[in-house]
Amino acid sequence: MEGLPQPIRDPQNIHKKIFINNEFVDSVSGKSFPIINPTTGKKFCDVAEGDKEDIDKAVAAAKEAFKLGSTWRRMDASQRGRLLFKLADLLERDARLIASMITLEMGKTFLLAYFETLWGAGALRYFAGFADKLGGKTIPIDGDYFCFTRHEPVGVCGQIIPWNYPAVMFVWKIAPALACGCTTVIKPAEQTPLSALHIATLCKEVGIPSGVVNVVPGYGPTAGAALTSHPDVDKVAFTGSTEVGQIILQASGVNNIKRTTLELGGKSPIVVMDDANVDEAATFAHNGVMMNAGQCCYAGSRTFVHEKIYDQFIAKTRELAEKRLELTGDPFDPRTTHGPQVDETQYKKILELIDSGKKEGAKVESGGAALEREGFFIKPTVFSGVTDNMRIAKEEIFGPVQQIFKFKTLDEVIKRANSTEYGLAAAIFTTNVDNAMMFTQGVRAGTIWVNNYETLSAQAPFGGFKMSGIGRELGEYGLSAYQEVKSVIMKIPQKNS
Ligand code: NAP
Ligand code: MG
Repeated sequence: MEGLPQPIRDPQNIHKKIFINNEFVDSVSGKSFPIINPTTGKKFCDVAEGDKEDIDKAVAAAKEAFKLGSTWRRMDASQRGRLLFKLADLLERDARLIASMITLEMGKTFLLAYFETLWGAGALRYFAGFADKLGGKTIPIDGDYFCFTRHEPVGVCGQIIPWNYPAVMFVWKIAPALACGCTTVIKPAEQTPLSALHIATLCKEVGIPSGVVNVVPGYGPTAGAALTSHPDVDKVAFTGSTEVGQIILQASGVNNIKRTTLELGGKSPIVVMDDANVDEAATFAHNGVMMNAGQCCYAGSRTFVHEKIYDQFIAKTRELAEKRLELTGDPFDPRTTHGPQVDETQYKKILELIDSGKKEGAKVESGGAALEREGFFIKPTVFSGVTDNMRIAKEEIFGPVQQIFKFKTLDEVIKRANSTEYGLAAAIFTTNVDNAMMFTQGVRAGTIWVNNYETLSAQAPFGGFKMSGIGRELGEYGLSAYQEVKSVIMKIPQKNS
């Protein structure tokens, strides 16, 4: 394991308070909540619990920082970009520390958390470059007028993030917001406030003015709900479950009209045609659902395999799942590829769904149970013989559970791929370009991968069709959610002669 980054198993200087106006403060109520290490199932530390009053304070700080004439509003756009470039450097500098915190709070394998932090730095640099390139247009309207558009920051943002990619989710939210000149209040997931609070200190270190980035740890129904219904919040950006997304969409219209973007769940199909390279497709499909212990919104949790290659595909998939089981264990060990689930609730939910799969007649090819040890570990599980009406075929499991279905024709499988409320991502493995084109056109999802899976890039927009969300993050498209367009129409005086 020489040459690999090494974890910090007992990180010091962990921040456990609420971050408002570039300072750490206690919660107004004085309450705190426990952070559990999912590798052991035991409490690791307590963090200040934000609630409505704390959200009020944070929103007031963000509103003040957004005032016309404030340091932030008067800052050159190029300088905003420079701050984001510097933040990217600090994320890299502290990547081992941030990754170690993520491993402690959510059980992600250290190396994955380390690379996640580096991806975060990449996304920051992508958006940093945009800060001084967000100009409007001049438009030739009828009459003696000069019309142009200004792209202005949308205002105070309320950003709510999940626990599955704590560093990347934080960056995907703040980077476009700050590049556009907005200010923000972030509520990290209850499981993962530590990495978020550390990144907040880096925002201060690079010189982002006070009040521009505020981080309020706490629970969804209290702190989260206060943020999404706050009358002084102009925009809400949320990543998490579809169920909570629906609540947020309603809350965002109660006290004002918030611009709302949602990146929600999925039940993404991976289709393997009979002309595909079976071993390669099986490997992509395996990683596509098992990555991060199955805790990815774009997890390829429905694998459709052509009947002609079905048995061969299952054999390879079983082999991959068994190999992964051997690499399951302490997420701090750089050799480990499979760690625990984030918490006991998710652990129990996943085991219950695995049971439902067995009861409804799917065949367990591998795994199918918890690992006998402390913490929230579940064996990489593969079901074959899955049919479309089983619960495991329909519900987002968010765990290391692969469902394999059999199909005969492309037409049939496109219909089945679409028969879900979700539309986040989809993939096809084929060497026939006509198959690839028909699938790409036919499937209603925000991302289609052809002969690969989970290739994400800061440059490419990401988001969902249907109940997988509203709007796009990343890419140039991702900036529009953080901008208002103002049309300016000026009368041009005309000479008489
Ligand atoms: P979640 O409840 O949707 O949580 C996402 C974020 O929303 C968290 O910060 C959460 O706070 C907050 N939240 C919860 N209720 C809220 C409310 N009423 N108003 C405002 N904010 C609220 O997801 P989860 O509990 O972490 O996981 C549950 C399921 O969500 C998973 O099984 C999975 O299916 C799905 N999920 C999807 C994604 C994705 O990327 N699409 C990510 C994570 C989870 P708390 O931390 O206090 O809950
Ligand atoms: Mg929750």
